[in-house]
Amino acid sequence: MEILMTVSKFASICTMGANASALEKEIGPEQFPVNEHYFGLVNFGNTCYCNSVLQALYFCRPFREKVLAYKSQPRKKESLLTCLADLFHSIATQKKKVGVIPPKKFITRLRKENELFDNYMQQDAHEFLNYLLNTIADILQEERKQEKQNGRLPNGNIDNENNNSTPDPTWVHEIFQGTLTNETRCLTCETISSKDEDFLDLSVDVEQNTSITHCLRGFSNTETLCSEYKYYCEECRSKQEAHKRMKVKKLPMILALHLKRFKYMDQLHRYTKLSYRVVFPLELRLFNTSGDATNPDRMYDLVAVVVHCGSSTQRGFVFFGKNSGPNRGHYIAIVKSHDFWLLFDDDIVEKIDAQAIEEFYGLTSDISKNSESGYILFYQSRD
Ligand SMILES: [Zn+2]
Repeated sequence: MEILMTVSKFASICTMGANASALEKEIGPEQFPVNEHYFGLVNFGNTCYCNSVLQALYFCRPFREKVLAYKSQPRKKESLLTCLADLFHSIATQKKKVGVIPPKKFITRLRKENELFDNYMQQDAHEFLNYLLNTIADILQEERKQEKQNGRLPNGNIDNENNNSTPDPTWVHEIFQGTLTNETRCLTCETISSKDEDFLDLSVDVEQNTSITHCLRGFSNTETLCSEYKYYCEECRSKQEAHKRMKVKKLPMILALHLKRFKYMDQLHRYTKLSYRVVFPLELRLFNTSGDATNPDRMYDLVAVVVHCGSSTQRGFVFFGKNSGPNRGHYIAIVKSHDFWLLFDDDIVEKIDAQAIEEFYGLTSDISKNSESGYILFYQSRD
């Protein structure tokens, strides 16, 4: 648990001199990437769930570029997206190469927009990521709708596209959206029916001493639907036993993988953290793609990881009913920038060795112990 911070009223930008210059020195003036800025984010009282996700997203280059491009468009009324664009712009245009920035406007807006985040409690970073991406997509779609309406004919004719039930994809979809195909085979008549489903991130179950590839295989394993979970077969016109499996049909540009490390334990009436060791490679290829996948050979590089620190059995935590598990402990982000790795722990930024990433795989034994383990992985495709 972190201690609530008093937000400083005076400093809009503060720089942590010692730490900042140490990082600059460590990278070296020759090696320091041109036009790159490494800025820690001030914690406004348990806002590391937000800081860690924002840093990870900042280092998802296609996303950063779109957000900065949005900033350069004509001024829009304040939204979570304008606040994010202001924050990214502020980082990207700093005179100094390293330092600390308070994401105050963003946090204020977030708390105003969603009561879930309107408090000083730790939140689930994955829930926040989901909320942020969906909110940005909604804002973009709404703006497009407005533009179309403003552009409609004076006699009030609405163009046909307005009747479209599925809105056009936004750049959030272009970057993060993939498609799953859900195949169900009736075990009586052998008819296969498939249904496609879009995703912005994939949530996978974790097991001890495994790898991400194993988790993804598990995700796509054939499941038998039987007894009370029988499937209604259109051919048989009745409930039947069936085999079901989910495969990736369209691979996203950036694959966000959420490791389901928090499991609700019925007998304990609370969430517990699974600190299992799950290896995530720097390079990834998916093997759970469908036969008709459009781009099954996409190669991915790890670009960012949101890490959850702590255990679910930490003491001293005030119990808020269901708000345990991912809503406790601390979050940090490790990101790849050019050829090296950085660790962002709120206002602290450090350079780390690529080998040090292994420390965030999880624990091989005594999983109830405190662990710093990968929670959301961001893989960017090479093409
Ligand atoms: Zn059937």
